[in-house]
Amino acid sequence: SGALVWFRRDLRCDDHAALYHALRKYGRVYCVFVFDTEILDALPSRHDRRVEFIHASVLELDEALRCLAARSGAPGGGLIVRHGPATTCIVQLAQALGVREVLANRDYEPQAIARDRRVADALRAQGIVFSEYKDQALLDRDEVLTRQGRPYSVFTPYKRAWLEKLDGFQLESYPVERHAGHLAPPPQGESLPALSQLGFVPTNLQALPLPTGISGAQQLLRDFVPRMGAYHEARDYPGRKGVSYLSVHLRFGTVSIRRLASLAARQAAGGCPGAQTWLSELAWRDFYFMILWHHPQVTTQSFRPEFDQVQWDEAPDAWQAWCEAHTGYPLVDAAMRQLLHTGYMHNRLRMVVASFLTKDLGIDWRRGERFFALHLNDYDLAANNGGWQWAASTGCDAQPWFRIFNPVTQSQRFDPEGRFIRRYVPELARVPDAHIHYPAAMKPAALSACGLRLGVDYPPPIVDHAQARERTLRRFSFLADRR
Ligand code: FAD
Repeated sequence: SGALVWFRRDLRCDDHAALYHALRKYGRVYCVFVFDTEILDALPSRHDRRVEFIHASVLELDEALRCLAARSGAPGGGLIVRHGPATTCIVQLAQALGVREVLANRDYEPQAIARDRRVADALRAQGIVFSEYKDQALLDRDEVLTRQGRPYSVFTPYKRAWLEKLDGFQLESYPVERHAGHLAPPPQGESLPALSQLGFVPTNLQALPLPTGISGAQQLLRDFVPRMGAYHEARDYPGRKGVSYLSVHLRFGTVSIRRLASLAARQAAGGCPGAQTWLSELAWRDFYFMILWHHPQVTTQSFRPEFDQVQWDEAPDAWQAWCEAHTGYPLVDAAMRQLLHTGYMHNRLRMVVASFLTKDLGIDWRRGERFFALHLNDYDLAANNGGWQWAASTGCDAQPWFRIFNPVTQSQRFDPEGRFIRRYVPELARVPDAHIHYPAAMKPAALSACGLRLGVDYPPPIVDHAQARERTLRRFSFLADRR
């Protein structure tokens, strides 16, 4: 009897929970990936770096599965690829292959949970079992609870409990290769679709320093490991290479979270502060998966319901300036241009631009969240929602609403020489360090000395930060009594 492993956001074949369990249990294991038209048709553009990233990673996964089988001397391996509504594709394929079970790794997003429920029901009607495994998170759902048996809503005690639970067992890899001989070859006549057959056209992905697939993740990891020790010092400076850039690979599972965490945990146990800090970031990832699992309403509502009474502004001009990176605040504009040009934004800048949108422009965090969802390569509902609600002060363990980032002092602190700004806002390249964070304060003589025409080459600020700050304090003031 056979099984079908359904790959989704886990595009690798090493240390893969569902694949390991299928291979251990069954002598004939097929692998499938579905380009789900229910997701793809809803995308507003036919240029989408994520689709291209997935497509390239799926091709590499097919090859990796063939190699895995070949190494164990089996004739099998390879990926079956479908393009259609996932529910129909999976049920039809499982029937056609005559498998007894469909296995997949667990997803925590409400839409994915609903889809998996539909698939499970449809399979059950055909006498086929659907089972799911923890793979994306290190510790999920109810694995980390308070003493009272409730989910945490504050990160620091969650992290403490998370670290206590994160033992060797949780970090152990699934030895997929041990049973790789059970991989079955895809049926005759199967072929992998080209990107154009999915209805998408290439983006600038190839030109970006963003390698795809399993090999891309390994390349970024090799680059990061020697830098991990300095992560705690370098991570906040967007002009420096301080972070791992692995988020898109974690998003699509081209690298195993257990491998990353065990690497960090080993170095952290040896007292390496960089590794300890990086491990904490991986804890944030689990934390937000857990929050989304227990509180799926956060996708549309504030985690703290009283914050849904905040009156946000429509501000169409300010919204457009933010989206198009013309706010007159260089760090905000540089960050938004990084997002538009590459699909990535540094974590410090995500906090800065999210705070700017909600606290300086008074625009609802949900609009910013949706904008990020369209543009981020690593877009992940749980982390994105958590990040936006944190910045807007509406979420669990969010920054207090009266703490408001100043976009100029953030810039002075985290991009002191304007290295990052100059990379993405070249019209300011000749502005001296002292003024690059706020060129609007330059005297006419200083402006002409560096050839900058404010309002022509670069816009004046669309909002006065001090006034905006006062407006935000008033906007949130009805919550003051509840502190
Ligand atoms: P590193 O600093 O190398 O961190 C390693 C990994 O830890 C990341 O790849 C990521 O998986 C995880 N991580 C780090 N910080 C966080 C965090 N605060 N929350 C959850 N996981 C974290 N991250 C996403 O993966 N997808 C998103 O859609 C997303 N949206 C965000 C929106 C806002 C407004 C904010 C403030 C943060 C958001 N983050 C999101 C978290 C964080 O900014 C990114 O994970 C990080 O910048 C990715 O870069 P990196 O891989 O180089 O990170």
